[in-house]
Amino acid sequence: MDQSTATLYVVATPIGNLQDMQPRAVEILRTVSLIAAEDSRHSAPLLRHFDIAVPVWAYHDHSDQHRTAAIIERLQGGEDVALISDAGTPLISDPGYRLVDAAHQNGIRVCPIPGACAMVAALSASGLPTDRFRFAGFLPAKSQARINVLSGFEKVSDTLVFYEAPHRLLDTLRDMQVVYGDERVVVLARELTKMFETVRRLPLAEMVQWVASDSNQQRGECVLLLKGVVEEVSSLTPEAEKTMRVLAEELPLKQAAALAAKITGLKKNALYQWALDTLKT
Ligand code: SAM
Repeated sequence: MDQSTATLYVVATPIGNLQDMQPRAVEILRTVSLIAAEDSRHSAPLLRHFDIAVPVWAYHDHSDQHRTAAIIERLQGGEDVALISDAGTPLISDPGYRLVDAAHQNGIRVCPIPGACAMVAALSASGLPTDRFRFAGFLPAKSQARINVLSGFEKVSDTLVFYEAPHRLLDTLRDMQVVYGDERVVVLARELTKMFETVRRLPLAEMVQWVASDSNQQRGECVLLLKGVVEEVSSLTPEAEKTMRVLAEELPLKQAAALAAKITGLKKNALYQWALDTLKT
């Protein structure tokens, strides 16, 4: 299929603070022929604020297929289209997947205009390991279903990131405490970029107490981040220890751990953690 000359721009918008709007996002939104917005009424103040006077069509993933087809037709006709959601990055727990998928299937160029995303903002301020993380989106609304999903993550060593609605925050934290215990570290990142922004890191039992005792913490938008399971390695075999020590003298720790894992058959993460605990100066 021929590549159309038009572009579908996937444009991030602020998650609270209008000053986080990227200049490039403003420029693109002013110059496209059409904006596909999750909710045109919701986006109207933002577009007005930045003097963007481009026709807006409502688009969400439940829009009938005619809407997707109509947008693709406009693109195929050579008109640029921008996709926005109510806030943050489209497609990240937001509509847009069907449209972007359809664009690719039709050989249309897709161009991201990066900007705010609550998940990334929360992760960057959490102080939890970011080398490996798992974005789990929204948890189920009902407690039993939520506990089932949380139980599936019990042994995950990556940092876990969840979006949560404020009225479910306390129940979700209580379910996390049931599944992961009192001591697992959790971060609450609330109202990011807004007046009552809060980033708090506590063991689960303390977080439950704190949120329960302060109803203000149960308001606004929030992201929950959970520290992954730390693989405990108290000691290595003398041979593995020697291998790790020698390699760590010559290589960065991660590389040394990867190589030592191949030589010894032990887990890379375990060797890396041992080196961090034992060899740090
Ligand atoms: N696409 C958006 C993004 O890039 O972050 C997320 C959309 S999702 C429908 C909305 C959820 O994102 C909220 O329920 C909350 O969990 C999180 N969120 C959005 N804005 C936030 C903010 N300012 N502070 C904390 N969490 C936020």
